[in-house]
Amino acid sequence: GGNPDRDGFVTLDACIMDEKYNCGSVAFLQKIKNPISVARKVMDMTPHVMLVGEGAYQFALENGFEAESGNLSDDAKNEYQKWLRTSEYKPVMNIEHKQSGFQSQSAPAKLNSGEINHDTMGIIALDDHGDLSGSCTTSGMGFKMHGRVGDSPIIGGGLYVDNEIGAATSSGQGEEVIRICGTHLVVEMMRMGKNPEEACKIAIERLLKINPEKANEFQVGFLALNKNGEHGAYSMHPGFTYSMTDNDSGGIVIKANSHFSI
Ligand code: ASP
Repeated sequence: GGNPDRDGFVTLDACIMDEKYNCGSVAFLQKIKNPISVARKVMDMTPHVMLVGEGAYQFALENGFEAESGNLSDDAKNEYQKWLRTSEYKPVMNIEHKQSGFQSQSAPAKLNSGEINHDTMGIIALDDHGDLSGSCTTSGMGFKMHGRVGDSPIIGGGLYVDNEIGAATSSGQGEEVIRICGTHLVVEMMRMGKNPEEACKIAIERLLKINPEKANEFQVGFLALNKNGEHGAYSMHPGFTYSMTDNDSGGIVIKANSHFSI
């Protein structure tokens, strides 16, 4: 269902990290439905952290994953056809509040798939034993260059877990997150005493500082959870929301504060 790259291929990135600094990652993986499960196998079954492309695909097949056809979903096919009319190569991440359906006081309404140029699923968790873990998975930026890999499979980029301190994940323009080792930075800020939202805000401010002119054009959001179960997020632009589930709530959607306002 993810949007393809500009050559029409869906390529997937994912990583996973547990409370003992074990981690696994796959990037530029094609025709396998659940890349995060392959990342988990890399973590559990190999001495490595990261497998990419054809090697990751072969590893997946050897470990019982089934090859999919690689055909696009109807929605993705339509969006790709639309994109091909101009074939404009503009790898800019959408900014949620600029899309139709966004209401400032609530979670964004459902968007058509073509309005969504990114779709990272980042999950960070604290279990009953007080241990932290996380995962991050995506088809990446729609209509990206073939071979392009974002932040989502990069440990310290799209995901970082330090069981002494906290965990963080990110969504949005991966190039910007990689530039500052974004989630590692967020965790280190929590180590220095910042609460999760403050730590995420510092990472966003770092992006602003290094690139003040461009910051208006891209969206990045960070989400963090500390060892005490406190959570928070902060994004460059409004519209970044996250879902929180604990023993008392069946899942609530929380709107992150952002640097820019509408
Ligand atoms: N962070 C992802 C990437 O750059 C995009 C997304 O948010 O899905 O590939």
